[in-house]
Amino acid sequence: MVTVRVPAKVNVQLGVGGVRPDGYHDLANVFFAVALGDQVTATPGPGVTLSCSGPDADAVPLDDSNLAARAARLLAAHHGLADPGVHLHIDKAIPVAGGMAGGSADGAAALLACDALWGLDTPFATLLDLAADLGSDVPFALLGGVALGRGRGELLEPLPVSGTFHWVFAVADGGLSTPAVYRECDRLREEAGLGSSAADIPDPDADPALLAALADGDPVALAAALANDLQAAAVSLRPALADTLHAGTEAGALAALVSGSGPTCAFLAKDADAAAQLAAALRASGTCRTAHATHGPVPGAQVVHTSA
Ligand code: ATP
Repeated sequence: MVTVRVPAKVNVQLGVGGVRPDGYHDLANVFFAVALGDQVTATPGPGVTLSCSGPDADAVPLDDSNLAARAARLLAAHHGLADPGVHLHIDKAIPVAGGMAGGSADGAAALLACDALWGLDTPFATLLDLAADLGSDVPFALLGGVALGRGRGELLEPLPVSGTFHWVFAVADGGLSTPAVYRECDRLREEAGLGSSAADIPDPDADPALLAALADGDPVALAAALANDLQAAAVSLRPALADTLHAGTEAGALAALVSGSGPTCAFLAKDADAAAQLAAALRASGTCRTAHATHGPVPGAQVVHTSA
C-alpha cells in the first residue's frame, strides 16, 4: 500500500493571452502550492478501480474519466504493463471544479503512487512528461513550490521564494467549468472591443513586482501584485463571487482574488492568526459554503506512507 499527499494550487498571477490557432490560450501562470491537499492511496487489485471520500466525494467521477485512473493507465502503458492492477482511494479535501486543480493533483498523486506500488522507479523527468500528457496543470502538482508556467501552463520554471505565506480559501456551492470561464473571458474581451485572438491580445508576461514579492517573502507586496485575468469572467458567470471577495476584504484580508477559473476565492493574510480569524469571519458571512485557512508554498506530490 502506498499513500501520496498532493497539494492544491492557487495562481498568484494568471495572465491570459488571446486564443491561439490551436484553440488554447498562451498563459503566464504563476502557480503556488498550498497545504490544502488530497491523499491518494494505491493498493494492489485487479484492473484499475477507484473510490473517493470527503465532503465533495459525490461530485468526483469514479470511471475512466477520473484523472487518477487515466494516470495509472498511462504509466502502465508507458512501461508496457499489459494488465495493471491497482485500487486508488482518493481522500478529497480540494474543492471539486473549484479552480484549485484538484483533478490534476490526483493525477499527479496517482502517477507517483502507482510508480511506487509497481516498483517502476520511473525517472522524475519522465513522470513530468507523462504528467504533461495528462493535462497542463498536472506537472505543477508533481513539482510543487512556486513555478512559472508558460505555453498552456505546462512548461514550468521553478521560482525562488522566501518564507511562508498564509491563505484562506472560501469554497462555493457547486463548481465552474474551466472551458466555460475561458469562453466568457473571450466574450468579455470581444464585448469590450479588444478582440480575443492571439493577434489582438499582447502576450502575457510574469510581473517583476510579483516575482520580487515572492522572493522577498513579503505578503503585503504580494497582495498588491496578485492578478487573475479570468476573475472578471468567473464573476460574470457567478455574480455572487463579488460578495465573497468583498466579505474577505471587509474582514481584513490583505487581498482577495478568484482562484484560477473559480469559483473558490483566495485571500492572503498577514500571518497564521490573521488567516484563522479571516476563515472564521468568512464562514460566518454566509457568502460561501465553508472557508479553510492554510499556508504555502509546500512541496509537490510526495509518498507519505508505504506498507507491505
Ligand atoms: P483546474 O483548476 O485545473 O481548471 P478545477 O480545480 O477547476 O480544475 P477539478 O476539481 O480538477 O477542477 O475538476 C474538474 C472536473 O474534472 C470535475 O468536474 C470532474 O468531472 C473531473 N475530474 C476528473 N478527475 C477528477 C478528480 N480526481 N477529482 C475531481 N474531479 C475530477
